[in-house]
Amino acid sequence: MIRPALSVVIPCYNEELNLDLLHTRVSAAARAAVGEDYEIVLINDGSKDGSWAVMQRLAASDPRLVAINLSRNHGHQLALTAGLDLCCGAQILIIDADLQDPPELLSDMRATMAAQGADVVYAVRRKREGETFFKKVTAAAFYRVLDRVTDTPIPLDTGDFRLMSRRALDALLSLPEQARFIRGMVAWVGFRQVPFVYDRAERHAGDTNYPLGKMIRLALDAVTGFSTAPLRFASHVGLALTGASLLLFVYIAIGFFTGSAVQGWTSTMLVVVLLGAVQMFVLGMIGEYLGRLYVESKRRPLYLVADVAGPVRGTATLGFKADAVEVAPVSGGEVVPGE
Ligand code: UDP
Ligand code: MG
Repeated sequence: MIRPALSVVIPCYNEELNLDLLHTRVSAAARAAVGEDYEIVLINDGSKDGSWAVMQRLAASDPRLVAINLSRNHGHQLALTAGLDLCCGAQILIIDADLQDPPELLSDMRATMAAQGADVVYAVRRKREGETFFKKVTAAAFYRVLDRVTDTPIPLDTGDFRLMSRRALDALLSLPEQARFIRGMVAWVGFRQVPFVYDRAERHAGDTNYPLGKMIRLALDAVTGFSTAPLRFASHVGLALTGASLLLFVYIAIGFFTGSAVQGWTSTMLVVVLLGAVQMFVLGMIGEYLGRLYVESKRRPLYLVADVAGPVRGTATLGFKADAVEVAPVSGGEVVPGE
């Protein structure tokens, strides 16, 4: 297999209005960094707008661009996984389609990688332009809580925008889980990882595709994927409550023997409500783990590819298959994984 020096992997969901400018800017940045020796991998994650048509047009006009069309919306992290499976560059740049992460930083990121002998250069957001106060506050809180509870140190204020070496990517792709929190998985992989500070720009066009629901889901994937602290929380609370109930027992016993036992409705309600709340919370957290265990045990493919436009250079694992399938260069043809 001939590896290009660089692959740029871009998951896209309803990014019709961003794709042309994205293509121009990413191509220019890649050319400035490695000359003609690059490929751009676009993943259409079941967009509802005309993204796929634009991708097909771009693939037809640019031999360095390959676009894959997933069978439906599989979510950002799985779309990204599809692109990472498919790309074959010696270095890999992961970037969002909305141009919030400036592609022009590529050259500096490569320089940092070379200078520090790093396998991963991850971009840390210093400023976030044009995002709501709510998004900034929840994101900042999320990264800090995550840092407290996880066993793997995951860098703060870092999204998926990063440059990786081939060996770091291969290591990442060897992790088979369904519930993917890629920035955490990259941190888990290890090797030498260095930060690269930048200012996050405003979205070029369109709206965020990460509403509160998706953010909560990603946060739960992050916590359950990288920490068992919430499970331990149950035993810690249990222990504390046992201690407290022993004291309560002594108090009740004293009341009984001195004959001063009162009606005590307030305290009873308090205990019932508190215990009920703690039990529901702990049960819910156990449910989160159990649900993920169940999903993992089904061993379904991570995603399914419906169409490919443009030349697929490498050996791509389409869907989560034990064996990689060789994909012949196609233009606009259909590739059914595993067939
Ligand atoms: N995205 C995706 N599938 C989804 C949601 C988002 O592929 O279901 C892509 C989206 O096109 C973008 C990236 O993931 O390239 C980040 O999404 P977005 O910009 O909406 O998130 P935000 O920057 O607001 O956190
Ligand atoms: Mg964005």
